[in-house]
Amino acid sequence: MEDDVERVLIAEDVIERRLDAMAVEIRRDFPGEVLVVIVLLKGALVFSADLLRRLPRMLEIECLNVASYHGGTESSGKVDFLDRKLPDVNGRRVLVLDDILDTGRTLRAVVDRLTEMGAESVKTGVLLAKDKVRSAEVEADYVGFAIGDEFVIGYGLDYQGRYRNLPYVGTLKPEAR
Ligand code: 5GP
Ligand code: MG
Ligand code: MG
Repeated sequence: MEDDVERVLIAEDVIERRLDAMAVEIRRDFPGEVLVVIVLLKGALVFSADLLRRLPRMLEIECLNVASYHGGTESSGKVDFLDRKLPDVNGRRVLVLDDILDTGRTLRAVVDRLTEMGAESVKTGVLLAKDKVRSAEVEADYVGFAIGDEFVIGYGLDYQGRYRNLPYVGTLKPEAR
């Protein structure tokens, strides 16, 4: 375990088994369909890479750069779309993947934007969902794990750009923040 990590919340092998089950669920819901998967960078990078390799080959992968956290451990409330050009989802079935559902503002803003752009349907999947009242009305269709309302890092999630490559989800020691 890294020195800065206070506690491992979800171990690597537990994540792997959960992704197996999520992939089964997703395959069942989209039998034989060509999906556009939209990975929200950078947090969903690790989760998506592992989940997507468990899905059938018939999918297209796109990425979106959105920012809601600006470096700290508190959500800023505003969601910025940072890409010059968004993927063409007109008439397509879309699955959006994010690392964590917190206030819900990010997923709400992304789903709304893709719907405005003419997506036929938009489903959402997250590795983690914080158990709390959300500021934006949204829940994910696929959730890896429900967790308490605390700041976590690892498996894609960062603190000031670091810790994304930890293979597990954990909490940071107070002195590391
Ligand atoms: P929301 O818009 O739902 O408030 O927040 C979603 C985004 O905030 C996530 O994609 C993630 O980037 C960031 N975020 C929310 N909670 C946490 C957390 O506990 N740890 C980290 N590292 N990022 C978080
Ligand atoms: Mg994010
Ligand atoms: Mg972040």
